[in-house]
Amino acid sequence: MIAGLIRSSREKVSSALRGIALAMKPQVVFVLGGPGAGKGTQCARIVQNYSYTHLSAGDLLREERSRTGSEFGQLIDSYIKEGKIVPVEITINLLRKAMEETMKADENKFRFLIDGFPRNQDNLQGWTTVMDGKADVKFVLFFDCSNEVCIDRCLERGKSSGRTDDNRESLEKRIQTYLQSTRPIIEQYEQQGKVRCIDASRDVDEVFADVKKVLDKEG
Ligand code: UDP
Ligand code: MG
Repeated sequence: MIAGLIRSSREKVSSALRGIALAMKPQVVFVLGGPGAGKGTQCARIVQNYSYTHLSAGDLLREERSRTGSEFGQLIDSYIKEGKIVPVEITINLLRKAMEETMKADENKFRFLIDGFPRNQDNLQGWTTVMDGKADVKFVLFFDCSNEVCIDRCLERGKSSGRTDDNRESLEKRIQTYLQSTRPIIEQYEQQGKVRCIDASRDVDEVFADVKKVLDKEG
């Protein structure tokens, strides 16, 4: 009798805790910066040291591009080569799915680094429409780097990355897209006091030391 009561109250507590955990809102850090600024590299370092899940919008799009049966494969392929930004309906669904799957597999994984998104007004609008109230954007980690350094790094990466957009022609277009479309998004967040700017022109360890300062304070 008593054992039964204890068991049932234990079950109630654990189901209540599960409820709380399920109700945890995703906590998001947007990671932005030019192509080759080091977003992916630094995100990998962050994941090793902090409890974040790294979601690269570009990687998710490349996965979708090569998924057999994807209706968006060709579209994504041409947008990436042209350095253009894929319509947000596609990207936001991939991001939402990845976040949901991560949280479903482990309810403690509700902190996300969203790398390479939002890149333009359309992206931001799509995010707001789908995720407003469902996720908190804590801040924007902005890897600031000159265009010259960005281009050099991507050309170097292009020797082995196999990426269709790590060549001079695509890079010129990616830089233009970044300057015209992404910088204004960063500026918008800046006006809200949400940008944490990191000088990304230095080597990986030096940059990460600054990233750590930000995350230790408010990560
Ligand atoms: N891309 C996009 N929407 C996104 C993220 C990426 O359309 O939200 C496309 C875009 O064409 C971009 C390319 O994917 O130029 C590569 O993005 P990625 O973030 O992988 O490049 P990185 O900035 O890391 O070099
Ligand atoms: Mg990247």
